[in-house]
Formats: sequence, structure tokens, C-alpha cells
Amino acid sequence: MKKHNFNAGPSILPREVIEKTAQAILDFNGSGLSLMEISHRAKDFQPVVDEAVALFKELLNIPEGYSVLFLGGGASLEFCMVPFNFLEKKAAYLNTGVWAKKAIKEAKAFGEVVEVASSAEATYTYIPKDYTVPADADYFHVTTNNTIYGTELHEDLDSPVPMIADMSSDIFSRPIDVSKYICIYGGAQKNLAPAGVTFVIVKNDALGKVSRYIPTMLNYQTHVDGGSMFNTPPVLPIYAALQTLRWIKANGGVAEMQKRAKEKAEMLYAEIDRNKLFRGTVTDKADRSYMNICFVMNDEYKDLEADFLKFATEKGMVGIKGHRSVGGFRASCYNAMPKESVQALIDCMQEFEKLH
Ligand SMILES: *Cc1c(COP(=O)(O)O)cnc(C)c1O
Repeated sequence: MKKHNFNAGPSILPREVIEKTAQAILDFNGSGLSLMEISHRAKDFQPVVDEAVALFKELLNIPEGYSVLFLGGGASLEFCMVPFNFLEKKAAYLNTGVWAKKAIKEAKAFGEVVEVASSAEATYTYIPKDYTVPADADYFHVTTNNTIYGTELHEDLDSPVPMIADMSSDIFSRPIDVSKYICIYGGAQKNLAPAGVTFVIVKNDALGKVSRYIPTMLNYQTHVDGGSMFNTPPVLPIYAALQTLRWIKANGGVAEMQKRAKEKAEMLYAEIDRNKLFRGTVTDKADRSYMNICFVMNDEYKDLEADFLKFATEKGMVGIKGHRSVGGFRASCYNAMPKESVQALIDCMQEFEKLH
């Protein structure tokens, strides 16, 4: 039976990305060696990194003066690298969920942290809108897509100070104005690559402004200078990321990804709103994520939750159980998710409705 992969992360990748990576694992570039057994400094591998960096810049329209890095450690390590490198006195953070909260926790070790607003009191079911970012902050940190709660900033915010964003789960799903940010980072395992590589886009002249010592491996400058080769980078996930970047380009770039994401999300939200069994969890519809679509059973059908999960699983739906902190359901519809899979989930919801 066909599986419809709604996993939140690691998550669905385009079939051809998996096939090309599998091929390179068997034989990299006709070298007779596996991608897993070559040096990251092999002359054939440098072009992989170079092309991945070039495609990042092209697809996201990154201005001059920025570097693209491929590191280890996940988005979670960036929670501490960001303040290590950029927080001298004060930083502003928007608290939109568990990931933002973790970033805030790390930043507090480095300076004053102003939490400009939080939707914690409402289990992060909306993104706060009325707040002031202090004009003397070193940066303003946002999480553009809140993977667990299904809220998303669909446009870049305005801020009196440079922004930094965790874009782990919506990178390459919409055009972004990179010039508003001094740093954009994320774990690649949501919309770009298998787990193991972290992408960082950093503005070169924003570095070197803090007075503290930064440990070598945690200093972005080290990796800018080393072209992501200061130490051994995650070779295999970088190769897979390159295949995804090529796939995005061949499929029309980020504007097209956004169009498709919106179309898929609107189909599913329309069904959630129409179907008497279900309701969406995000309270401000403008905040509804195109990437992670969260919904629960309506109160009068609450006891059908386990039944629906079983019903949908038997029909090939994978990964639709909501995050343990939220419950209900979450359908993650990243770039690689075909419309047909979204339709299959909708069919499931309609069939289940008829049964009840
Ligand atoms: C998954 C996720 C993270 C954590 O990423 P790791 O690579 O596992 O550290 C952080 N932020 C967001 C928004 C995420 O979706």
C-alpha cells in the first residue's frame, strides 16, 4: 500500500533526492567509492559544497556579504551559538513555542533577554502581534514556523534592529528578504535533507562584534573562514541537500514552492473547517502554517481520536499524530509532499465522517 508521509521531521524528501543519494552511496561520481568513504576534502566533493552554497544564494536571493555554512549540532546548537556570536548586551526574542523557549533559555546565559511577547498562556495557538522590540537590542530573534503548534509567519516582520530567525521547518517554502536578517539557521531535516546537517546563513560584517572569547568550533567566523571545512562536515546530508536544492530549482524555485504549499494547506484547512468531526487548533487563521497543519477532534467526538488515527494509519497515512505536548493530529506538508497525499488524507477524513 502507498504510504503518505506526513512526518514532522525527519520528514518526506523528493523521491529523486533519495534515489540520487542512494546511487552516490553505492558509487560516488563513477569513482568506484561510496560517498560514505571519501574525504570531505576530495576534489570531487568540494564542488558539491560549492554548488549547494551557490544554490542557497540563488534560490533565496541572498545579497552580497553573506556566507552559507553547513555545520553539525542541529538547530539546537544554534540556540547557543547565536547569542555567543551576536549578544553583547541585550537581545529581543518572540516566544512562539517550545523551540523559541529553548533559544531564549540559552541566550539568558549571555546577556539581558527581553521576551517581547509570548503566546504560552494559550498553548502557542497564535503568534503575538502587538509588541515593541527595544531599539537598543543587538538583534530580534523569531521562529518563523512553529512546527509543533502549526503557526507560521508568512512574511518577514519589520524590526528596528537586525533579525535572526530559526527557519528549521519553513526554509525554502517561501521567498525571504534575507537583508532583514544577520543570521538565519535551521536543522535541515524538515524541508531540505536527512538529519545531520544544520544550515546557517550569516551576514559577514555582523560577526566579530562581541567582546567575549568564543570557542573555536562555536565561532561562526571559524566556519566562514574554513568554508564549512574547518572540521569534517556532514558529507552525506550535504550531498542530499544539494539534490533537494536542484529539485527546488527544477520545480520553479521558492515562489513555486510557496504556491504549492498554500494550495495544499488550503485544501486541508478547508476540509478541517467543513468536517463536523474536526477543528483546527490555531486561533488566528492568518497564523495557520502551510507546513504543519494541526487539528483535533471536536469536543463531542473526542473519544474517536484513537479510532481515527487507526483508520487513517490503515489507509497509509504516516506521522499524523500530533506532538505529545499538543495532542490531536498534525499533518506536515513540506515541499516534497505531493498534493495527492493531501487529498488521500482528506478522503480519509470524509470517509470517517460518514461512518459517524
Ligand atoms: C525541529 C526544530 C528544531 C530542532 O532542531 P534540531 O536540529 O533537532 O536541533 C528547532 N527549531 C524548529 C523550528 C524545529 O522545527
